[in-house]
Formats: sequence, C-alpha cells, structure tokens
Amino acid sequence: MSLANFTSLIREANFSWTDLLTGLTIGEFTFTSYLDYRQYNVLNKKTPPESLKGAIDDETFEKSQLYGREKLKFASFNKLFGLLQSLATIKYNLYAKFWNFSGNLLAKSHFLPSSWNGIITHSVYFFALYTLFGTLISLPFSYYNTFKIEGKFGFNKHTLKSWSLDKVKEILISLVIGLPIVAIFFKIVDYYGESFPLYGGAVTIIIQLILQTIVPNFITPLFFKYSKVEEGELRTKLENLASEIGFPLNNLYVIDGSSKSSHSNAFFSGLPWSKQIVLFDTLINHSTPDEITAVLAHELGHWKMNHIAKALAFNSIQLVFLFYLSAKFLYNDSLYREFGFSTVQPPIVGFCLFSYIFEPINCALTFGDRIFSRHNEYEADKFANDHGYKDSLIDALIKLDIQNLITIDADWLYSSYHHSHPILPERLSALGYLPKQILGKDK
Ligand SMILES: [Zn+2]
Repeated sequence: MSLANFTSLIREANFSWTDLLTGLTIGEFTFTSYLDYRQYNVLNKKTPPESLKGAIDDETFEKSQLYGREKLKFASFNKLFGLLQSLATIKYNLYAKFWNFSGNLLAKSHFLPSSWNGIITHSVYFFALYTLFGTLISLPFSYYNTFKIEGKFGFNKHTLKSWSLDKVKEILISLVIGLPIVAIFFKIVDYYGESFPLYGGAVTIIIQLILQTIVPNFITPLFFKYSKVEEGELRTKLENLASEIGFPLNNLYVIDGSSKSSHSNAFFSGLPWSKQIVLFDTLINHSTPDEITAVLAHELGHWKMNHIAKALAFNSIQLVFLFYLSAKFLYNDSLYREFGFSTVQPPIVGFCLFSYIFEPINCALTFGDRIFSRHNEYEADKFANDHGYKDSLIDALIKLDIQNLITIDADWLYSSYHHSHPILPERLSALGYLPKQILGKDK
C-alpha cells in the first residue's frame, strides 16, 4: 500500500476514532502493567544475583528491593490515574473544552495587539492552560514521592518550603521556555501546512541544541548552588584525566545536591570548546578521589565517543518520522469532528490526539532507544576500563548502587523497556568483575 493510499484510507475512514484511541490507551496500559507485574516478582526475591554475592550484603539487598517495590507500586498507581485521565479526556471531549476555555480567556486579553488573536496565540493559551492543569494534578503525586517514599528511605532533604519553591520555579521555567517554542512551532505548521515535517524537524533540532546549552548553564544554577572544587588530590586527578583525553575543561564545580536529595550524580556541560564538570557534593562525600575520577572517566567516555551528538541524530530521525506520520492525521476532518471540533482544526489538538494513536509505535521506539543507550553505557564503561579505571569504576558502581538503593536485579523484558542503563550485574560482568568470594576476598 502506498503512502497516498494510506492517507486517503485514513481520510475516508468510517470507524470510531473514540474506540480506536480508547483501545490503544487501554492496550498500552495493559502492556506496561504486565511489565510491572513481571518486575514486581523479581523485586520480591530475597537474595542478590549470584554474581554479586559478597559485594552486597543481604540486608542492603532487601532494603533496595523494598525501595524498588515501593517505587513500582507508586508508578503503577500513577499509571492507573493517567489511564483514567486519558479515558476521561477521550470520552468527554476535554480537549474541545480546554480549547473553548482558552479561547474565552484570549478574547478577554485586551492587552494583546489585535493581530495576536489568531490560532497561534490561541494555541499558546491552550498549551499554557493545559500545562498548568497537568502540573496542578501532578502535585499531590510529586509530594507523595518526595516526602513519603524518598523521605521514608532517607533520601529526601527538601523541606515543604524548598519543595514548593522548586515547583513554582519549574512551572515558570516550563512556561517561559515552552510558550515561545509552541508559538514558533505552530507558526511553521500553519505556514507550511502538510509539508511542515522537514521544516518543523529542522527547527526542533535547533531548539534542542539551544536547550542543551541553556539548561545546564542557566537553568540548573537556579536550583543548586555552585562552588569550585578545591585544590587537592581530587582536582588534580580530574584535571589530569581531562588533559589526557583532550577534554576542554574550563571549570570544575561542586553543587549542593545534598540540600534536596542524598542521591548522587555527576555531569558535564558547556560549549564544544569550553566545558565544565559538575559533581554533586553527595558523590564527593561518599566516594574516594579514585572512584570519582573513574565515574568521570565514564562520563567523559560519552563525550569522547560523541554519544550526545549520536543521540541527537538518532532522536531527530525519529522525530521527523513522527512528524511525517502525524501530518497524515493533522488534517483529518473526521478526527476533529469526533472530538468536538466542528469549525476549527487546531493542529496543537491534532498532535495531542495523534499522541494516542502513536502509542504502539512509541512503544517499539522505546525498545530501540533503550538498546541504543545501553550500548553507549557499555562503551563508556569500556572507555574508563581502557584508561586504567577498571577497579575504581567497579568499586564506584557498587558503592553508588548501594547508596542510591538502585534496583540490582531486573526482569529482562521490563528492563528492555524501562532501563536506559544496564543493571549492576550486567555492567560488572562486562567489566570482567569476579565476585569477591571467587577471588577469595570474602569479608
Ligand atoms: Zn553513562
């Protein structure tokens, strides 16, 4: 079947869009719930995988399993709520109600120039309202996750005040960044019509590149306090590593991640010719300089092997492909009519509806994404290994997993869909780790 036939088939389709969207939504929920069920069984195991015996004691393992179960139960509840929300949106034409409501607000916005009352501004209002509504609904979930789950396991360092302040900042930032992007993108869709995918794709890629620079340099500092890593063993080791592999290190910072959570992390950011390495104080406080350098060797491995650029290229191909597919649905009368739009066909709503139709493809793409990102993780581990950090990296990975209570064991199908990183036993075995018992170093 050619694409033209496919398009006309959809256009003249004589079936219920509501049934299709409902079916796909329930299908996705059923599939991911089945994965959760499989993972829950693994999280009920009482002993760590054979390859990790001696590295992780039973008590720590049990605690990480319990943490994993709590998080999974919470995610499943979240998902059930999301399903009900989607079904209500489909059944009660909530997009049309939001569209009309945002139209009424726009009509009352006398401060805007009169040339700004078209579909683009209306789309921006729709997006703003929808984002605010979604954020408000998600607040109780976020509160529960931070104070009940993270708090129970000793990870949360937020107070109610600091958490609320972060939420307000998040909403403001997503609107300040999101609204102009929505305006630019839908202006392009409006201008180019059905041939928007290539232009829309190009602009989205440029926006992603800009965001990759803006977020770590300007947004992250709004949430954390930066200070320079002091002179000493750690700083010398990191600088030596950077110069050995030609990383254009300009600044070395530590941020107060411990003010919010005791989970640890490290990342790098900046422009191609001038970069900074950022370490969470939680990482510095709990690891030796050699272990931290090994973690950074892994991170810089991602840089050296162009993983970020490759990921951007990979995502861009997917994006343009999706835009082409969505173009087949965006100009479909019956789709809009069925969801309460008889006189206008706002593409922003078309995209929202398309996201339901696209669910099975999204699912397949997720599996592909995971394969790609795990491949990169193995490559970055190998890079650290090749530069002499094998033992420190092994120690660091075990320590980080224990401290963060990261799920150590996983069902293969759940893992293939959810995990961007291989789990600890997989990474250790790729690094050639032998359990301490086999090495005769049993503690
Ligand atoms: Zn990595």
